[in-house]
Amino acid sequence: MSFVVFKDATLLDCTGSAPRYPATVIVEDNVIREIVDGGVLAGTGAEVVDCGGKTLMPGLIDAHMHLNLFQSEAAEQTRRNLPSMIVIQCLAVMEDTLMQGFTSILDAGGADAGFKTAQVRGLIKGPRMQVCGHSLTQTGGHADMRLPTEIHGPIDHFFNVGVVADGVDAVRRAAREELRMGADYVKIMAAGGCASPSDECDTVQYSLEEMKAAVEEADAVGKICIAHCYSPRSMRRCAEAGVGRVEHGNFMDEETALILKEKGVVYVPTLATYDIMSRRGVEFGIPDYFLRKMKLANERALEALHIAVNAGLVIGSGSDMVGPGQPFKANELELQSRAMGPMNAILAATKVNSEILKVSEKVGTVEVGKLADLLLIDGNPLDDVGVFRDRDKIKVIMQDGKFMKRVQ
Ligand SMILES: [Zn+2]
Repeated sequence: MSFVVFKDATLLDCTGSAPRYPATVIVEDNVIREIVDGGVLAGTGAEVVDCGGKTLMPGLIDAHMHLNLFQSEAAEQTRRNLPSMIVIQCLAVMEDTLMQGFTSILDAGGADAGFKTAQVRGLIKGPRMQVCGHSLTQTGGHADMRLPTEIHGPIDHFFNVGVVADGVDAVRRAAREELRMGADYVKIMAAGGCASPSDECDTVQYSLEEMKAAVEEADAVGKICIAHCYSPRSMRRCAEAGVGRVEHGNFMDEETALILKEKGVVYVPTLATYDIMSRRGVEFGIPDYFLRKMKLANERALEALHIAVNAGLVIGSGSDMVGPGQPFKANELELQSRAMGPMNAILAATKVNSEILKVSEKVGTVEVGKLADLLLIDGNPLDDVGVFRDRDKIKVIMQDGKFMKRVQ
């Protein structure tokens, strides 16, 4: 049995309560055992972290990332890299994501369950994970990475973000394959997207019947179907089909937000990726078609979030960072704060995300009995939510009771 005592902390527990100072948090092995207002004397043998008034808070959660999209163009990646190289780069992204303060993540398409297992077994450093496996996409859909000129292409590559499945039977079978391989969700591409070379964002992909098949297969094993979409049309079709979560949703309108609310569909906006690619896409070397669509989606991203907030949707936090954007996942909090305020943006990336990922009994807040996933931040995130962008301000990262970073 080992004890770590965080003393003299400003505790931002992310239950929604205001910060408390001074607070002491006692970790026994990998569990938060006691939280005391004021200071306590450490017991014999306890390791003490003197927080010096810095902010102690739960580890961040990214509800939409892509471990294996680390190059500027997804199709290029699968064509040029051997599987061993892809895995090694994925491991680097995992460790770097943890060092950005994310102790849990959902890979929204591309990574298989092996990464998750390796993290749990302590073979690799990284956030605890949930995975979608391959996203299901129709021919010419968002995860069909063939150029319009190609008949064959990278669609059969194991490390592709998606797998092409057309028609109800093929969708069912593809969903079952992903679930068989350990996917925590069935992810469908319900609209075009920015990274795909052959479609537009404001389209609808998959028929209602195909979507329902994906939803049924997820539901049959107690899981949910989540969907990539932008347009009101695609979001409404998802809601009608019983999809549990829509991602991105940049072209949201009021009427659609109310339908999502009525159907209990969760919304995970991903502002950070459109923002950084619009600003730095040329420097990052992303292809023209990708940049053009990123800019279109970026124009409406914040307005969509405002509409979602006003409609009272459950709003999570995802970065969807790809390529050279991977090191900047924490940008999402500052961007969301423009519509939600800093506290709600922080809660979206902690408490709300833990509820959306159904792991709130373990992580997402600093409460007695939860796992010790903790950050010590040199700054007050409620005054400056951009503090998360500066990883030097993250002085301690504890995950499952283990120090992953400690610079004091
Ligand atoms: Zn994505």
